[in-house]
Amino acid sequence: MKSLMKRQVSAWVALIAIALMPLSVLAQTQLKYHSNKYSVQDDVQLGRRAAQEVEQQYPLLRDGQVENYVERVGQRLVSAIPSQFRHSEFQYNFKVVNARDINAFALPGGPMYVNRGMIEAARSEGEMAGVMAHEIAHVALRHGTAQATKGQKYGLLAGIAGIAGTILGGSQVGQLAQAPFAVYLLKFSREYETEADILGSQIMAGAGYDPRDLANMFRTIQQQGGGSSGGFLSSHPSPNDRYARINREAQLLRVEGGRGDTREFAAVQQRLRGYGSAPTMAEIARSGQRYPVGENTGNYPGNRPSGRVEYPSTRYQSYSILNGGVEVSVPGNWRQLNDGNAVWFAPEGGYGQFNGQVIYTHGASLGVAQTSSRGLQRATQELINGLAQGNRNLRASGGYQRTTLGGRTALLSNLTNVNEATGRSETIRLVTTQLRNGQILYMVAVAPQGERNFDTAFNTVFRSVRIND
Ligand SMILES: [Zn+2]
Repeated sequence: MKSLMKRQVSAWVALIAIALMPLSVLAQTQLKYHSNKYSVQDDVQLGRRAAQEVEQQYPLLRDGQVENYVERVGQRLVSAIPSQFRHSEFQYNFKVVNARDINAFALPGGPMYVNRGMIEAARSEGEMAGVMAHEIAHVALRHGTAQATKGQKYGLLAGIAGIAGTILGGSQVGQLAQAPFAVYLLKFSREYETEADILGSQIMAGAGYDPRDLANMFRTIQQQGGGSSGGFLSSHPSPNDRYARINREAQLLRVEGGRGDTREFAAVQQRLRGYGSAPTMAEIARSGQRYPVGENTGNYPGNRPSGRVEYPSTRYQSYSILNGGVEVSVPGNWRQLNDGNAVWFAPEGGYGQFNGQVIYTHGASLGVAQTSSRGLQRATQELINGLAQGNRNLRASGGYQRTTLGGRTALLSNLTNVNEATGRSETIRLVTTQLRNGQILYMVAVAPQGERNFDTAFNTVFRSVRIND
């Protein structure tokens, strides 16, 4: 089924975008950390939260060969980070975003996202590695939280500082996950960009790449029109200055062993071209689509076979959701997916994308709705009408049954639907109750018809609901 609520495009997360410029070994430029009121652990937490958001915001390319290749190049670079800029807490990982713009970005603590367009544009593995090394340098130098330490003076929007502040304030991580993320497009100061170019060059040389490839990548991007909106150069100005600076540094660096597997790089590029044209970041943002982590795991025709949907675990995990208004326990193998005003809990394989929409085949969602109708029964009918708009085959089977949800009067409605992704009949149960403020709290449970093992889980989830309004 499709979700009830409209999706909110939650905004962005730090584009600790790419900057470039290297330094070197002979009289390699010495870099220092900027003052930073955050702990290394804060970087890790902040980046982890942001990564979740990023992965709902942008479609990841799920291609084992490409993912594996990019990850290997990334780890090779990571192992060349100078010791004074290593943090054992950081976990660098590298994912490919299925977007056309020539760009890449990294989050505090190590999550990095490389656009498919960047890999396709690079003329060599070294050029691709250059951008990645630059991003790694931002992370290693802890530029995100250093910038947040300085507040907004350097063009940082309130978002990152606010979020970091929330983490430091000791508020529950669960709540943080619910909060709509502020959009914060992080632009670093020129000084930071130069530092990332310098350290990036040092990392490249240490990993066996020619640092000048970082500079060459600027040219490549310029030639390919990457200076336009959304591209690397839009967050990394003055490529000519940087080109010269990087090349100056490169002369100071000794490259440790020759690197750059041209054959594998060419094979990956060819593989990517086989996917046709990727959407731009702007198109992705405009679509408002949210991508659950593990996208394309749904058992839909056309998706890679992912096997069965796991049975609900008999161990339950509690969540505080909807800004602390509701507590609920769900099977431990279900994951939380924020979907506009609603929260879904679903097992792997129980949701995925179909025709650009997120469709659920197994799972439960809770949300709050404002209806124009008064009275629980009329409000419930209005909700069902809303659901029917997105699910053409939705039918009520029987009337309302009285029940309780979180200790208060509630209505249970049994519905049937034909899942538009799988074509299978499915059972939907909708339970509604009124909140003190007149809004409707609803819980929706969906599973294919006849999958009884989900009934028990839904009943347990349903009975676990506690309302704090
Ligand atoms: Zn940068």
